[in-house]
Amino acid sequence: MILGAHVSTAGGLHNAIKNGTDLECDTIQIFLRNPHQWQGKPPTSEIVKKFITARSEVGLGEVIVHDIHLSNLASPKIDVLKKSRQAFREQMEFAQQLGLRYIVTHLGAHLGEGETFGLQQLADSFDFLFENADAPDIIPLLETTAGQGTNLGYCFEHIRDVIGMSKYAERFGVCLDTCHVFAAGYDMRTESDCEATFEQFDNIIGLNRLKAFHLNDAKSEYQSRVDRHEHIGEGNIGITAFTYILNDPRFAETPLIIETPEMKTMHEVNLSTLRGLKT
Ligand SMILES: [Zn+2]
Ligand SMILES: [Zn+2]
Repeated sequence: MILGAHVSTAGGLHNAIKNGTDLECDTIQIFLRNPHQWQGKPPTSEIVKKFITARSEVGLGEVIVHDIHLSNLASPKIDVLKKSRQAFREQMEFAQQLGLRYIVTHLGAHLGEGETFGLQQLADSFDFLFENADAPDIIPLLETTAGQGTNLGYCFEHIRDVIGMSKYAERFGVCLDTCHVFAAGYDMRTESDCEATFEQFDNIIGLNRLKAFHLNDAKSEYQSRVDRHEHIGEGNIGITAFTYILNDPRFAETPLIIETPEMKTMHEVNLSTLRGLKT
């Protein structure tokens, strides 16, 4: 299995590598800038070099980028849409320079304009990005969401539709967040629930698109459409789903990233819980 965590980049991007290896991660996820701000520091060649060197020294595997929280690539508001596209473009170009492949992003919110409008807006945003960003190797991973408010992405059909509406279907992957799909109404509490959920994913999107997992238990209830992460095995999903994913040979090469709470103190515990589930 390829197991890892979302880790901090405090003190410099290259520090994320050490934070990952300290936790014995095979893979990590990072933000390239403060996720609550539109603007990031422009990447300098020194930052890029330090990161690439640190990563190659330890031979760390996949480093996944997560888009900023402010992003809404489906927004009907032109200023927010422009800022979201600009920020995503900068992150794509930065990730390309760092030698990375994947940027996870949520599908955004239609803010009352309707789901069809939002999905089309999103597909247009990605087409714009693919045509304008200097980042030919970057694959956006559309993340399944819990579906709070007018957020898109709470059903597999939304993801299928965005990919279908884009002129560049081959450029997309998907990230499945266990907490989000559970809150959205895909049960994972028993082995047969897991089987059914992945069968639906395969029928609607295709498992070949699934490039990463976010492994989070859920503080939120099943079908609540509320996004609250919990420590592995301590939430409403429970341990069975994680045992299932970790031991399914279809996911043996897929990065599994935890985004559980209290990362400074609890990442070690959650990773050790997950390692213990591998049979
Ligand atoms: Zn997630
Ligand atoms: Zn979440």
